[in-house]
Amino acid sequence: MSRLDAFINRMTSQRACLDHAARLTAGLEGPVFELGLGNGRTYHHMCEIMPERDIYVFERAVASHPDSTPPDEMLILGDVHQTLPQALERFGRTAVLIHADLGGHNPEKNDAFARAVSPLVEPLLAKGGLMVASDRMYFENLKEQALPEGAVPNSCFIYG
Ligand code: SAM
Repeated sequence: MSRLDAFINRMTSQRACLDHAARLTAGLEGPVFELGLGNGRTYHHMCEIMPERDIYVFERAVASHPDSTPPDEMLILGDVHQTLPQALERFGRTAVLIHADLGGHNPEKNDAFARAVSPLVEPLLAKGGLMVASDRMYFENLKEQALPEGAVPNSCFIYG
């Protein structure tokens, strides 16, 4: 598969999975977490589809498009290895939707990172909440969910 095809699959799947997860969690009360701001495209989409939600963004260095930069009070700046445990103390198990797109271009590194971050993410997700990830995650209790129409298998994952 070309890099262009893989990129298109990831973008298409992120949108399909985020739309799906936002619909399924619409009846729950609680914040939403975006892990990895990057350019801010998925954050911007999440703001569009969940305008009523508090969306907290975890990022180590902000370099997003000005239209897609969260306000300071919604930004949790730092390495997720530190900020996710801090978020558990602050928010408890309340996040209704967590989206993670933290990876780079190296699949082995992304997998190692997903293994390390999974136990930090799992306790943050509210009962009935959903996690959408660009990489396979390694949870103790959360189960992989069926993908919605339009999502490409292995380009995006949903857990709940
Ligand atoms: N979803 C974003 C978008 O639509 O533009 C792209 C996210 S980009 C692929 C990954 C982001 O995760 C980068 O901005 C990077 O700085 C951030 N990141 C990677 N490792 C991190 C870590 N350990 N702690 C915090 N942020 C991290």
